[in-house]
Amino acid sequence: MSRTQHLYELQQVDTEIENVSRRLEEIAASLGESAELKQSRKMVTDAEAHLAQCRAQMQDLDLEVSGLSQKIEANERRLYSGRVTNPKELANLQEEVASLKRWREKKEEDLLEAMVATEEAEAGLSDAQAILAQVSETWRTSQSDLADEQARLQTRLEELAEQRASLVAAIGPEDVATYERLRQRKAGRAVAAVKDGICQGCRMSPPTSQVHHARSGKELVFCNNCGRILHVI
Ligand SMILES: [Zn+2]
Repeated sequence: MSRTQHLYELQQVDTEIENVSRRLEEIAASLGESAELKQSRKMVTDAEAHLAQCRAQMQDLDLEVSGLSQKIEANERRLYSGRVTNPKELANLQEEVASLKRWREKKEEDLLEAMVATEEAEAGLSDAQAILAQVSETWRTSQSDLADEQARLQTRLEELAEQRASLVAAIGPEDVATYERLRQRKAGRAVAAVKDGICQGCRMSPPTSQVHHARSGKELVFCNNCGRILHVI
């Protein structure tokens, strides 16, 4: 195997290590609860609180209406008992009963509104619960897909580390040093393939003599333009 062939393979391994590591970072960031899931859960909590409030208001009004009815009945009993004979007192009692009935009518209207609001709140809660169930299901699936991908990529990273170690062992230390130096300067790409006479690192055509030298793979030839190690494929 030629001298640049090993370096070219090392470059491919390193590029894949870079990609796999980046993807693993993305996965780590995506694992855990999504913003959508948190929001859906909050919608359910809010809908529950709203429903509880509507029910409490409905119960308060219901109690108020019953209380008024009891008062009205008591007053009417007195009114028709024949025990109250004073005309002024009778008139006052009648007026009070009428006033209580008006008040009860108003409260009954409020109660009806509260009942409608409660029904709407119940519907709102069941909508929010349905959305949460759907979002949770999608989230669970995606989490399990991500966990699978993470496990697969971690295994791949271990394989790549082994490949890298054996490639480095097969390459002379000087070439490894040159390669590492170039990688740092060239955004991780130290070796460029030459395909159809074109350097894949910079898309320029190195001189034919350079390509010819590079093809033998016996010495390191650097691209005149981008400075990368050329490997003819
Ligand atoms: Zn180049």
